[in-house]
Amino acid sequence: MLVPLHLSPDGDSVGCALAVNMVCSRFGTQCQVVSADPPPEELSFLRGWEGIAPPKDCLGHFDVVLLMDCSSPARVGRSSELIDTRQSKVVVIDHHRTALRNGDLVWVDPEAAATAEMLFDWLKSADIPIDNDVATALYTGIATDTGFFAYPNTGAETLRRAAELVEAGAAPHLVYSRINEQRRPATLRLLARALDNMNITFCGKLAWTQVTQDEFAICRAGADDTEGIVNHLRSLAGVEVAAVFVETPVGQVKVSLRSRDNYDVSRLAEKMGGGGHSRAAGMTMEGPMCRARRLVLDEIGSTLCAEGEGSQCGEH
Ligand code: 5GP
Ligand code: MN
Repeated sequence: MLVPLHLSPDGDSVGCALAVNMVCSRFGTQCQVVSADPPPEELSFLRGWEGIAPPKDCLGHFDVVLLMDCSSPARVGRSSELIDTRQSKVVVIDHHRTALRNGDLVWVDPEAAATAEMLFDWLKSADIPIDNDVATALYTGIATDTGFFAYPNTGAETLRRAAELVEAGAAPHLVYSRINEQRRPATLRLLARALDNMNITFCGKLAWTQVTQDEFAICRAGADDTEGIVNHLRSLAGVEVAAVFVETPVGQVKVSLRSRDNYDVSRLAEKMGGGGHSRAAGMTMEGPMCRARRLVLDEIGSTLCAEGEGSQCGEH
């Protein structure tokens, strides 16, 4: 079985893949986790992290391809070259509203806070014991996708599942500190720069910033170090939408969108070729930066202002 991580893999993607990998090895099923992008260093405490291979190291034929936390080969980047739909069954387990329903077996539940919740329910229903390494991987998926139980997707059921995973051996303080308190100076340098370049517009409802390749070079930082910038922008009082534009080495622009309460950023992301959740979504657009930025900001601005006292803000 092949388990590809989605591009810019997060805690849910990595946690689910490693949990499946551990369960498979218990049953003697061969499983290869593959990632086109390097898996985040801060998740290296999860068992099996070092076995995540780049696509060029994965050869051979796979009976099953398991896509989790995403739903299309396009979302796994170069790992998609290993997927031959004529030879392999494609299984999709995803919780994105924007998920595509293509595959031999498709399970999409937009109500789930994380794909790790779905996987947890499935393992339980199949009476598969959850040891502390599997529990830690699944807990990590749930914790990261809920902002450590702070986002609106956190309900009583999410906390109950998390409690069961803690009983099974996950250690919340360790997961939290490994993910959030092992930062490199370069990450904070980039954050400082991004926040310094922050713009607030549309009556204070939209906050955005950008990170160019020059800034990566000045801070000696990489794409991994942009994680979290967008949440700082969303933390401003009155902000409804936060956007971060990141220039990639090939001149494309990766956009991270977050919202509060009313604004559904997944619809905007979908319209621009991406996807995600109503409160967290993203897409990759063609550059240059100024063009991508204008397209996105105009689009968000027109809706934000159409919804309220926009005509008074005089920003468009
Ligand atoms: P982030 O801003 O953290 O990279 O992504 C936020 C959410 O949007 C995640 O759930 C992620 O899976 C989704 N997302 C980001 N970029 C894309 C994209 O290009 N396509 C799709 N389908 N989803 C994306
Ligand atoms: Mn997820």
